Amino acid sequence: MQKPRLRQISSSPSFSRAGLAQIIVDEMYQWVGILDANGINLESNPASLDAVGFKREDVIGIYFWETPWWPDDIRGTLKEAVLRAAAGEFVRFEIENKVQNGTKYVDFSLKPVRDASGQVKFIIPEGRDITARKRAEEELQRKNIELENAYSLLKKQEQDLRAAHAAAKTALASSEERLQLATDTAQLGFWDLNLETGRLYWDHTVQEMFGFDSGEFKETMDDFYRRLHPADRQEVQNQFESAIRNHTHFNAEYRFIFSDGSLHYAVAKGRAIYSSSGKPLRVLGVVIEVTERKVAELALENRFRELAESMPQIVFTATPDGEPIYFNQNWFAYTGLTPGAERDSWTKAIHPEDLPKLMSTRNEARIHGKPWELEYRLRRTDGDYRWHLGRSVPGHDQNDEIIRWYGAITDIDDQKQTQLALSHAVRMRDEFLSIASHELKTPLTSLKLQAHMHRRKLRLVKQPDENIDWAIKSVETTERQIERLTRLIDDMLDVSRIDSGKLSIQLEEFDMGEAVKEVYSQIKPQFEAAGCEVDLITESGIKGCWDHFKIEQVVLNLFTNALKYGAGKPIEVRARATNDRAVLSVRDHGMGISPENHSRIFERFERATDMNEISGLGLGLYITKHIVQMHGGTVRVDSELGQGSTFTVELPL
Ligand code: ADP
Repeated sequence: MQKPRLRQISSSPSFSRAGLAQIIVDEMYQWVGILDANGINLESNPASLDAVGFKREDVIGIYFWETPWWPDDIRGTLKEAVLRAAAGEFVRFEIENKVQNGTKYVDFSLKPVRDASGQVKFIIPEGRDITARKRAEEELQRKNIELENAYSLLKKQEQDLRAAHAAAKTALASSEERLQLATDTAQLGFWDLNLETGRLYWDHTVQEMFGFDSGEFKETMDDFYRRLHPADRQEVQNQFESAIRNHTHFNAEYRFIFSDGSLHYAVAKGRAIYSSSGKPLRVLGVVIEVTERKVAELALENRFRELAESMPQIVFTATPDGEPIYFNQNWFAYTGLTPGAERDSWTKAIHPEDLPKLMSTRNEARIHGKPWELEYRLRRTDGDYRWHLGRSVPGHDQNDEIIRWYGAITDIDDQKQTQLALSHAVRMRDEFLSIASHELKTPLTSLKLQAHMHRRKLRLVKQPDENIDWAIKSVETTERQIERLTRLIDDMLDVSRIDSGKLSIQLEEFDMGEAVKEVYSQIKPQFEAAGCEVDLITESGIKGCWDHFKIEQVVLNLFTNALKYGAGKPIEVRARATNDRAVLSVRDHGMGISPENHSRIFERFERATDMNEISGLGLGLYITKHIVQMHGGTVRVDSELGQGSTFTVELPL
């Protein structure tokens, strides 16, 4: 903005016209000057000089377009304009003059001044700084554009909003429709209780459901309670209040009675809405009539009960939580409890020691929805406890939710007693075996010694005759029998040691191949006597840490079995070492073992052969398995009936 300049002007009336004109020109804040007809600048007013800080001599006497006012790029245009004005045209245009701090805009004109003959004598250049106006215009333009943009944005938003609103309206309409359809189809009613006013809103479905004629329902909870079956009122009220208090879902099944006395069933669910301070304001919910389903369920339940009453066992049904709701007559007859009190009293009939287990089994089953069974003692009306087997299976509805547990309780006391007697007998037998083996061992040892002495004495006879020979043979036979008996007794002792966990092993390093050969040399006469060929191949250096005596016992068992069951056919024995195991296999070509007996023969007293065919106690493999397992090894059989057998023992090296 240009600073207004004040000049002291004399008020004397003696100014000439030209003098006055000079004053005007000098005082104008426009930039004004005079050019001659060739475009030479003759005069410029102070405003035009002050604007850029030029002096008169900087601009006077030179072509107007060459004055330092102008930047080079507009000199051409300017010259052209001056020439046009010189030719008599009034030229006016805007000049954009780039200066240091931005662009200056100048509204510029060249006005030709003619003499009396019409010749252009002078040209008056006039310029005014319109930068501020221009800026304002530009600003306005910018604002305009912004406004337009904002407007079109708003317009678009409005359109979008309208579209969204329309879509929401359609969606709402169709979802309302769907909801209506769903609720109508499902006969689902809505209720809404305002806790502050006590007004109970019921939609038409609920009103119809509860048998109210239009206008009859007075929108109070009393209307509702009045329709409820008296036996259910308190319970429903309690559930309702507790749901509000505890911020939980209200979920109740109840009966209600029409004015004609007919009984109906409904399930209602709901939830309270609270203020920010936690005050309950409203309870909203739905209700559905389930009379048909309930009647069908009851009919089913009745049929079930009829059936249950005809059963010899105790039969019961229970809620999904496992609480009994029905017991058949057998329960009351057996326990002496009274009908009607089953919910609380049934646990009294369970033996106190068995009750915790029963409860935990039942709860576990309930969580997983799986059938359960348990043996427990049940008190008879005379106070005696008898063992029973309780079984229960879940019954589901069409949504696969458990709605009932069905159970049966069978008296298994007799079996249980037999079982107990049996295990007692087995224990007694084992004890007896243990005692008997120990007792037999002592006389047998002395018998063995005596036989040995007899043989030696008989061998000392100077002239042996037939009788002496016979006696020697007879003593040898006796010794063999004693040997067999000793082995049997040893086996029995081992079994009782295994069963009582007293069988122990003593590790020492030895060569498995050597041990096999050693055992074979002991038993070789028996193979020879049976005419049975043995092909024995052992690798050398199968060294490991095992119980020497017990491993020899294992080898002996396998040799003896091959001899007993091998039908006198050739036997192949192999002992070798793999990376980390010693492997011993004994293969015979005898009677073989059918696959279903493969695992059984390793059990105590289990045999796959008829006693009359080949005698034995069925202990050898049992002991073998235990010894091998105690060493961390395995024993297995490969065999088919009639195809011979291969027993393989593997021991860690
Ligand atoms: P035992 O030979 O005293 O009956 P074992 O425990 O040694 O007791 O064997 C159990 C059963 O396994 C035998 O009764 C027999 O039926 C079967 N068995 C064992 N070895 C062989 C074999 N090499 N061939 C066929 N059957 C066999």
